[in-house]
Amino acid sequence: MAVYNFAAGPAMLPKDVMKKAQAEFVDYKGCGSGIMELSHRGKLFQPVIDRAEANVRELLNISDDYAVLFVQGGASLQFSMLAMNLLNGGTADYADTGVWSAKAAKEAQMFGNVNLISSSKATKYDHIPSPADWKRTADAAYLHITSNNTVAGSQYITLPKPTAGVPMIADMSSDIMSRVFDINDFGMIYAGAQKNLGPSGVALVVIRKDLAARTDNAKVPTMLRYSTYIDNGSMFNTPPTFAVYMLALVTDWLKENGGVAAIEKINNAKAAYLYDFLDNSAFFKTPVAKADRSRMNVVFRTPSEELDAAFVAEARANGLTDLKGHRLVGGCRASIYNAMPMEGVKALVEFMKKFEQANK
Ligand SMILES: *Cc1c(COP(=O)(O)O)cnc(C)c1O
Repeated sequence: MAVYNFAAGPAMLPKDVMKKAQAEFVDYKGCGSGIMELSHRGKLFQPVIDRAEANVRELLNISDDYAVLFVQGGASLQFSMLAMNLLNGGTADYADTGVWSAKAAKEAQMFGNVNLISSSKATKYDHIPSPADWKRTADAAYLHITSNNTVAGSQYITLPKPTAGVPMIADMSSDIMSRVFDINDFGMIYAGAQKNLGPSGVALVVIRKDLAARTDNAKVPTMLRYSTYIDNGSMFNTPPTFAVYMLALVTDWLKENGGVAAIEKINNAKAAYLYDFLDNSAFFKTPVAKADRSRMNVVFRTPSEELDAAFVAEARANGLTDLKGHRLVGGCRASIYNAMPMEGVKALVEFMKKFEQANK
């Protein structure tokens, strides 16, 4: 039975990538050892991390004004690391659109003033407040957004624009490389790899070099300064070599398949297929405002919690796994990142139709 894995993260990876990694697992390029057994300072690993960086630069069209960094600690470490480096007693604007953005704001409070310029928390993050209504701080150290809200299932379909002099920073953990955007609108973006880029264990950080130079070195430990990663090619200490290797394979795959613009078309078609079905169903419902629906994480509910649980269990028995909603919100969630093929979404909708017929 074909299995389609709808997990939110760690999430499914492209089958071709998994097979390539399997083929190279024990013996990398005939050297007799696997990549994870090799020194990060050796001849074979350096080209891997170089390729990972070159792929990221090519796919996101990143100029030399920016550094591309591989950091451990996931997206969650970036919540505090970015504030440690860039806030330093100043004021930063945060748009609160979901549990991850709220966590990011909370961490930053330790290092300066956080101005929550909008929040949809009162309505359970069912929409994204319009950036037109933001009351921005004129001289903020930065503005922070979460481009896609993995738990709530919402997304900035049009990304906001920065104001002059205030760098925009985005947590793109759950929609990085899923759609085309202009990196030059951002001072920094970051993403835990385990949704759209590879396995867990590495976070991708893209930061404008002049911002990274703002860090007060007397106050920030060596391993938590962006400049340390820039000056040492992300190898001040041992990087997560296997995670970086997998990220190189996933970005190879994306390039071979036409890059971000090509995958965006497929992602739009996948999301439209699923939301069309939801809109025409009297049984399944999605709570998210239509204009802000995520194309990566589709949240929905049946008429009852009991049926939600039955749906998740029966779907699993039919090869459609990990459809349970986040533990904080319940319900169901289908994460349909880059690696999920259209066939997986079609199989899910077929199953949803059958479940609706049997239980309505
Ligand atoms: C998953 C996720 C995180 C947390 O990522 P970790 O790598 O586990 O720290 C942060 N932000 C968003 C938007 C996420 O989807």
